[in-house]
Amino acid sequence: MSFAITPASRLNTLPEQFFAALAAKASARIALGHDVINLGQGNPDLPTPANIVDRMKAASDNPLYHKYPPFRGFPFLKEAVAKRYKEDYGVELDPVKEVAILFGGKTGLVEISQCLLNPGDVCLVPDPGYPDYWSGVALAGAEMSFMPLLAKNGFLPDYKALDPEAVKRAKLMFLNYPNNPTAATASREFYEETVAFARENGVVVASDFAYGALGFDDVKPISFLETPGAKEVGVEFYTLSKTYNMAGWRVGFALGNSQIVEMINLIQDHYYCSLFGGIQEAAAEALTGPQQSVEELVATYERRRNTLYDALASIGWHADKPAGSFFCWLPVPAGYTSMEFSDLLLEKADIVVAPGNGFGTSGEGYVRLGLLAPESRLREAAERIGRLGLHFRNEPAKAAQRST
Ligand code: PLP
Repeated sequence: MSFAITPASRLNTLPEQFFAALAAKASARIALGHDVINLGQGNPDLPTPANIVDRMKAASDNPLYHKYPPFRGFPFLKEAVAKRYKEDYGVELDPVKEVAILFGGKTGLVEISQCLLNPGDVCLVPDPGYPDYWSGVALAGAEMSFMPLLAKNGFLPDYKALDPEAVKRAKLMFLNYPNNPTAATASREFYEETVAFARENGVVVASDFAYGALGFDDVKPISFLETPGAKEVGVEFYTLSKTYNMAGWRVGFALGNSQIVEMINLIQDHYYCSLFGGIQEAAAEALTGPQQSVEELVATYERRRNTLYDALASIGWHADKPAGSFFCWLPVPAGYTSMEFSDLLLEKADIVVAPGNGFGTSGEGYVRLGLLAPESRLREAAERIGRLGLHFRNEPAKAAQRST
């Protein structure tokens, strides 16, 4: 008789990895020898700045780092991120009580649901949104209630339109600006409304600020923690993945409310024993060393954005240029679903894009393109799409931008 292994039922609650199938389709096409332009993923294409890599090389010789690190990480890294927040956003953070070090933002985004949600609780989740929020809620055995992000509202949730029953049961909500996948940014007024909503309904706010450094046209994205009262109601997740092209290094932070930071530290005491000390030292170098690389990175993405949108406009695909993140959220031509259009681009133009419905039902009708290829490739992508002779419709009118 064979030995039967049955997974715990919680594994069956995990959402399907929608984009794994997309990556497989693209790989199959590359294996056939096609010259595929992959704009479907969110993996930064440029290298980590040299000062950070050099610091890591030197730090890896330090015998102190060959031992277990302190459970909750080295104080110097917490001080470094607090200093960066003070300089960039004017936000004061207590490095001991208001900072938790994470193995990348993704880890904290999954952990927070386990810290706060019981079975039967509700989590308010943006639709479309980053799928890892779903994973944490599923592992906690809780339920999701989606907050549609619509073009007419500037892709911000409309709190007044949410189901009052769901709001009553909600204990946590996720927000993410600059947004993946819509590339929208948030205003101060929206965050003020969010703090008021959170207080009134007893909902903790998890602000995912993964693209916080990426704002264009000289407008820097706002941190949720800049809002009066934000620390009372929530935390912000910050990551070095996008700001310093350090996606492979796995360094992130939970910042803000000390009670939630303590819960995240507590759960992590059981899961992990912090990051390799050399990585912590290199991460501190990223945060406290020269920041010119960040300015250059933002300028690169801005140039790519302009190149792509101008090239797309020249083939009749018009949309407003995004103000932040490295994504473009574009309406598909009439007559296609997101999936059909993504398949068409792959099969007829060797271009990979992410179908909007993979981020939630309100993502239907859109595709997401990443600005993660050189300008020449972005131009070529537009030319290939142009050769398909499609009829594009214009983007639905957005609501007037709220003041920042
Ligand atoms: N949040 C959003 C919206 C993201 O797009 C990503 C990564 O793509 C992350 C969080 C996680 O980043 P990391 O785990 O690399 O810090």
